[in-house]
Amino acid sequence: MEASIVNQLSEQFSEGSTFSRTSYLKLLSAYAELPFVTIETIGRIRTATSGELPISFVRYTSPIRLPARRLKLLLTAGIHGDEPAGVLALYRYMLSISLRDIAVDVYAFPCVNPVGLLRNSRLSSGHFDLNRQMTPNSIAPEVRALVTTLASQRISFDAAFDLHEDNPDVECDFNPQGHQADGFYLYESNFDPLRAPIGPAMSRAVAQQGGSVSSQHTIYGERAVRGVIQRGLERNRIFDFERFLTMNFTNHVITTETLVSAPLKERIKAQTTALEAGVQALMKAGS
Ligand SMILES: [Zn+2]
Repeated sequence: MEASIVNQLSEQFSEGSTFSRTSYLKLLSAYAELPFVTIETIGRIRTATSGELPISFVRYTSPIRLPARRLKLLLTAGIHGDEPAGVLALYRYMLSISLRDIAVDVYAFPCVNPVGLLRNSRLSSGHFDLNRQMTPNSIAPEVRALVTTLASQRISFDAAFDLHEDNPDVECDFNPQGHQADGFYLYESNFDPLRAPIGPAMSRAVAQQGGSVSSQHTIYGERAVRGVIQRGLERNRIFDFERFLTMNFTNHVITTETLVSAPLKERIKAQTTALEAGVQALMKAGS
């Protein structure tokens, strides 16, 4: 039953509808049924039309005792509500690791912005772009729930994966004149000099499974190689999640982007494939 929820929803959505309150709550219930997964409500957003919507925090603790030092991963999706593939792919990935007993510990926020998800809007309940609001003092309740929960975990993550989508109808606020992407791409911020980048392995995996990966040399004004934009410390004056995470919780953040113009099933597949390849590359590196 859990396996089919992503298929059910993606079929429903490809006919033009988006998440309803019922399908959102169904997705959260499906998490609760996964082995070795716990789910808790970390916030509730009141809406005029859909009642209260919970924001959830999910943990998967591998039952495998070895290796003693397991990867600690942070996964987030749905910071922007009009990017549903990440929300569905995150569930699909959690299902896949919980059935295969992969030796990782995962901390996940299945959908940071549920009101945006139901409205199919980039913005939050208070009409904020949450990915420009990522500070401990944010007035957005969604950000406060996320930040408070992360702070309470007191964890340094080996890597964080934040799943996004690229919507050509929304102008890029940090480079409106830049070239729009023509396929899957990702941002990688890796500030650990002892750790190899994993972005290339991720984009290669997407291409190998038949996904369309951007071949542009620049995307929104940033240098890209086979769909990978490596970022350094010099950028990022905007208060996005990548910046927040690298300053507080991890040295390694990957932000994946699928194009909303592609069929939803392909986007979910690309996101899941990229995530699996990224985690595999981290495990291989023994980090
Ligand atoms: Zn986004």
